[in-house]
Amino acid sequence: MILAEKKYEIHEVQKGYANRTLYINLSKSEITIKPVTDEMKKKFIGGKGFDLWLMWNSLPKDKIVKWDDLENEICISSGPLGGSIFYPGSGKCIVTSISPLTGIIVDSNVGGYFGPYLKFSGFDALEIQGKAKREVIIYIDGIEGLIQIKEIEDSEGLSEYSHELTQQLTQEYAPDENEKQRVSVVSSGPAAKNTKWGILNFSWFVRGRNWASVKQAGRGGIGTVFKKKNLKALVCLSPKVTVKSNNPANLEAARELGKTHSQEIIKLDPKQNEMRRVGTGHLPDIMNVTDLLPTENFRFGMHKEISGKEIPYSREVMRSIYSGKEGADGCWIGCTVSCSHYSEGHIVLTGPFKGKKVIVDGPEYETIAGCGSNWGVWDPKWVLETNFYCDTYGLDTISVGTGIAFVMECYEEGILNKEITDGLELNFANAKAAIELIHQMAKGEGFGVIVGQGIREMKKIFAEKYGADPQFLHDIGMEHKGLEFSEYVTKESLAQQGGYGLTNKGPQHDEAWLIFEDVIRNSIPSFEDKARALRWFPLWRTWFGLNGLCKLPWNDIQPESQANYPIKDTNTGELVRAKVPDHVEWYAKYFSAVTGRQSTPDDLINMSERVYNFQRIFNIRLGQGLREGDSNLPYRAMGPVTALEYESRANRYDNQLKDLGFNIEGMFIEEKIKILRKHREEQYSKLQDAVYKERGWNQKGCPTIELVKELGIDYDDVISVISPHQ
Ligand code: SF4
Repeated sequence: MILAEKKYEIHEVQKGYANRTLYINLSKSEITIKPVTDEMKKKFIGGKGFDLWLMWNSLPKDKIVKWDDLENEICISSGPLGGSIFYPGSGKCIVTSISPLTGIIVDSNVGGYFGPYLKFSGFDALEIQGKAKREVIIYIDGIEGLIQIKEIEDSEGLSEYSHELTQQLTQEYAPDENEKQRVSVVSSGPAAKNTKWGILNFSWFVRGRNWASVKQAGRGGIGTVFKKKNLKALVCLSPKVTVKSNNPANLEAARELGKTHSQEIIKLDPKQNEMRRVGTGHLPDIMNVTDLLPTENFRFGMHKEISGKEIPYSREVMRSIYSGKEGADGCWIGCTVSCSHYSEGHIVLTGPFKGKKVIVDGPEYETIAGCGSNWGVWDPKWVLETNFYCDTYGLDTISVGTGIAFVMECYEEGILNKEITDGLELNFANAKAAIELIHQMAKGEGFGVIVGQGIREMKKIFAEKYGADPQFLHDIGMEHKGLEFSEYVTKESLAQQGGYGLTNKGPQHDEAWLIFEDVIRNSIPSFEDKARALRWFPLWRTWFGLNGLCKLPWNDIQPESQANYPIKDTNTGELVRAKVPDHVEWYAKYFSAVTGRQSTPDDLINMSERVYNFQRIFNIRLGQGLREGDSNLPYRAMGPVTALEYESRANRYDNQLKDLGFNIEGMFIEEKIKILRKHREEQYSKLQDAVYKERGWNQKGCPTIELVKELGIDYDDVISVISPHQ
């Protein structure tokens, strides 16, 4: 049944912008088209900037909106460079909402074709508010110029499983059999309804495989918000995409830049990370060798028995697991990195699809580390099984990985037992039991439902109901701001502790990944060095999310010219080489060529700084976003919690204590842990001071009025949010 329908005129995209956004209120069955103003383009650029601006203006200002309030929104926007098919990595979009896990803004970066298709269908952003009475599909037809809110009938027989639903809707909405690649579907699955770890799957149709693949907007539970709104799916049918679709101000210049970057990728990738062949599957090996691979709930950084050697998720093994040819699968047209690999030989071992041969999109590094090594599971078939069910049930593999790793340690510590877990023996390495929890999340029954509320909620329940020590739970429960950590061990990298703790949304590596510079290269030893890096890198990475870009082509394939650059600028102390200066320069030119706004690398950073601070202020408006929220990392992110952990790196820790001037002769491990902890917590607090100063924030962690004026976002309602914290 059609609940609402609107026809609209389709206009050409102009210099990367459709110049309109689409607002849908599900409670009122309302469809509204809004103009994009010059002020929006100038100050908020697109992507996350547009999402935040739309939410800022649509959410009521007289209350703190919660994730499950009708006023909460889901916004999706690509950005002015999104949709170009001649520059690698130009098909991303950003999804934002108030997260069920954190209560603040979460932004999730995702591939698949929906973001660009939305723009080519006429809209720079989609804003969804309210809640439908029954499950609905939002359909955007960019060929006919038609938007519909359509209530689902049971008789339609649409699957509850995301991968099946995606195929069904692709088939249903394709104008003819040969046009399936014009359809992109966004959906989730049954576990998103019963947990706070829900994801959104964004599809793209791969003609050669006759299959709609998916990429995930995984972090922060946006799929849970989607289900709460009674959304079954979003479907966009796009006009044909050509090199002219994004209509750059200077097409030739933009194409030339894209050609240069693409040629470099084709030439250098085989000698570097082999993204085109194994994608992020090249990483577990490297992380294991460098003692950074989360193992058994982040207790260790490598496989204990085979430390320093290749692990069962080695590059060779991953190469054999992924199907298809090198560079066969990109999550947007024309991305020469094409790192989105899949595996088509997995025969499902458990659950409703048991015995079926399925296609698994992935597994990527975070899933291998989260649902493999971090569970003490070293068999790829179980990673494939988890990957498959998380995607099809609509679950974030990072939160599932880190969350179940926490449960396993609690089980081993005797905090949990078989009575509490409904008979599941959740020791490390028991992949079968872990997957049973995932099935329970999909069915909405058993202990899995408690687990799916996230680590922060579990900590409360385990302390209140099962008498566990709240401090120990806090120390080993790897969440911050309510979001589960992504998959890197940060104990020996103070900068990365900041890269996780001093973020807007919670511990996700897409803001800053500084372990290499900090630990391996030791190029940012002082607090000031680390603080400078913790200003520039989050701002730079934010810029990709304003523009519809993927960051992987920036630094996963490095130019030959890299070695010509110094590691650091001796005058300013700024990192140079790690920024990949040649690529930054290309991106400034690419932005100029598409939008017609002549921009330098510094201009790009300024764009991000405005949006980054705006997000910070949005979080303050939601009652968080200050120093307290950035503090109090779980201690395991900083150092060893248990004697076992201390012993695993005893030499390193003993030497650190000696360097600090302690006589450790005859000292018990517990005492050593205590001293080390005091020192490391103080270090983190000092880092916080230095980073706030570098970012232009006061010591409460609030952007100053001067900074906000400088950035040009000194709107009355912004000033009134930050004034009490000056
Ligand atoms: S680099 Fe990989 S993730 Fe990024 S756009 Fe290309 S295929 Fe997608």
